[in-house]
Amino acid sequence: MNNIGYYDFHVHIGEQISGHTLKDDFAELKSLCERPPEQDNPPLLGLGAFVTEVAQEKLQDTYQRMKDKAERDFGKPVHWHITPTQSKCKDIYPLLQAGCDLKLYTTYRQAGLYSSYEDIEHWMMDLQDLKTRILVHCEDDLIVQGCSAQKEFRHPFDHTFRRPEIAENKAVGIVLDLAVKHKHPVHIVHVSSPTSALLIKEAKMSFPDISCETAPHYLLYNEERLREPDAHRYLCTPPYRKESSRGMLVELLQEGIFDILASDHCNFPEELKDNYKNKLDQIPQGIPGISSLYTAVYSALVKTGKISLEQLDRLLRIKPAELMHIQG
Ligand SMILES: [Zn+2]
Repeated sequence: MNNIGYYDFHVHIGEQISGHTLKDDFAELKSLCERPPEQDNPPLLGLGAFVTEVAQEKLQDTYQRMKDKAERDFGKPVHWHITPTQSKCKDIYPLLQAGCDLKLYTTYRQAGLYSSYEDIEHWMMDLQDLKTRILVHCEDDLIVQGCSAQKEFRHPFDHTFRRPEIAENKAVGIVLDLAVKHKHPVHIVHVSSPTSALLIKEAKMSFPDISCETAPHYLLYNEERLREPDAHRYLCTPPYRKESSRGMLVELLQEGIFDILASDHCNFPEELKDNYKNKLDQIPQGIPGISSLYTAVYSALVKTGKISLEQLDRLLRIKPAELMHIQG
């Protein structure tokens, strides 16, 4: 292959999340682009980053500030996914016209990120001409709330009960129905449940402009990792799933159900997480992943013959470039 390298479509950097500043910004990622083109650990070619609306600044201004920073400190292609929390369609129309994706969440009410299914449908109707792709974090908030109320967050493993696969499956099913109904492009982020992946496969047959990703941590780890010492540092949402689900996700990857792999890189300082070791319901969740995205999958799945190098190249370079409108 001539163009050795990879893209990461799903990266949280340079933002504050739930009041905590992420550990890294664009400047820190530049060294990943300067790696020699080695087959097992190639350079980063570009990424998809998030801009979330905050109370004290207009979304357009936050976007412009982050875009300027990315151009100055990173210098590689960046595709933008924007999350309005207050703005309406007309307020952010220029950003959507410029090609930004929309990113919506069916959960995280407390953080102010929640959109109801009706809200999502309204966005689709408002954007019926532009057909802006909507990325959706799918976990049904009512199910999450119900399960969380039944299981106090005392141990990292409790996370698996509080945010079960059924919450993801329910939200994925509803969002897919909306995408098919309105013929609206949708991308389901970090699919962690094989049932959700199968729902996506089926919906794609009715409406092909649906895409999805899973993250290496759902393919390489199972929920037992949350019983390890210091497992509070590995908390991410959705949580790691049971071994049978992990194994099925790998099989579904082999079948080609996932369009791309992306890290959902969301790196908080370990000292910060350690401060919340005994207050797990408030711990900043998210794990790093952009630097190991390619190399972890290469060693676990390509070297073991589970997927081919060509499949990996498609999942991490060709298809993400397509989704981000980057000329390869
Ligand atoms: Zn994310």
